[in-house]
Amino acid sequence: MSIYWSKKTKDLLPYVPGEQPKDRKFIKLNTNENPYPPSPFVIEAIKKAALENLRLYPDPDSLKLCQAIAERYGLNENQVFTGNGSDEVLAFSFPAFFEAKDKPLLFPDITYSFYPVYCNLFDISCNLIPLDKDYKIDRGAYVKEILNDNSTGVIFPNPNAPTGILLPLSEIITIAEAVKKKNQVLVIDEAYIAFAEGDTNNAFSAVSLIKDFPNILVVRTMSKEFSLAGLRVGYALGNEELIQALKRVKDSFNSYPMDFLAQTAAVEAIKDRDYYNGNNKKIIATRKKVNDELSLMGFSVLPSDANFIFASPSKSGEKSALDYFSELREKGILVRHFNRDRIKDYLRITMGTEEEMDIFIDACREIGA
Ligand code: PMP
Repeated sequence: MSIYWSKKTKDLLPYVPGEQPKDRKFIKLNTNENPYPPSPFVIEAIKKAALENLRLYPDPDSLKLCQAIAERYGLNENQVFTGNGSDEVLAFSFPAFFEAKDKPLLFPDITYSFYPVYCNLFDISCNLIPLDKDYKIDRGAYVKEILNDNSTGVIFPNPNAPTGILLPLSEIITIAEAVKKKNQVLVIDEAYIAFAEGDTNNAFSAVSLIKDFPNILVVRTMSKEFSLAGLRVGYALGNEELIQALKRVKDSFNSYPMDFLAQTAAVEAIKDRDYYNGNNKKIIATRKKVNDELSLMGFSVLPSDANFIFASPSKSGEKSALDYFSELREKGILVRHFNRDRIKDYLRITMGTEEEMDIFIDACREIGA
């Protein structure tokens, strides 16, 4: 605290990102990055772009990137918004669609921990709807609050994080219909949906609902699916009115959130579908293997459609999730542990390469022995 801080700054509750170690080389299974490198075309594009136009401001609307994204999803470019990572796109959506100091924004009690941070930043109240006993999103509980006029909108990740559990489109529709009745917006954060088995043609994505639901905003990231967490590219897909709202917020904050290198490289990434589909298939296969191995050791593993799994050693023996977290760290392996009610017995484990996961499994065996 400082005498120079505004009251607002004193009251902030900033997000704490997973550790990015600087002192020692770890196997990093703690921040849900993709273990495979970006497409070689992306690297070429960055090198070429660096020699071109860095003297000039970038296109404030990232038009070429919006066109490439629109083409991928069968939308038009006015239905696409891009931002500096999906965190920024999500941040903009809070003041764009949810009323400050009004009825609460609804989201799960166990979910991406940036949502309450944005609520606090933008003075939006929230109502944390408990996941059911199997850690699934309880659509009935949302519908009840919405129809009782107790919401300003809804947001959740699909698959949810850190559970990895996917909500089927049929259940999303039930929530979207209730939200639509109240002229409110449903934001679906699809950061991890590319890792849902069989999603190569966006079968599980709410993108297909946009034509019937002008109140659905789908937010996606190039950090995980496209191995570009360091480049910072996120985007939103939705009805033109929703996209216009995000542009109004962006242009009240920073006209150029997407730099020239990011815009240029992201276009190349979107084009190289085969390369990324291949990598993401490998990640799905690794996830199955790790799931099976941990289950054999007595862990309970939630069914994941993401590039991580959420697993609890509580029934496997004496050691707690926190013991595993600390002992794995000593062995040079980072995973994520959340010291929070309902989930402190779990570890979130990002899928690394197959070799990294073999080392992880061996380490778990040693710890549990
Ligand atoms: N949504 C969810 C659910 C996430 O876990 C993350 C990654 N921390 C993000 C959004 C943000 O990703 P990025 O800003 O890298 O696009």
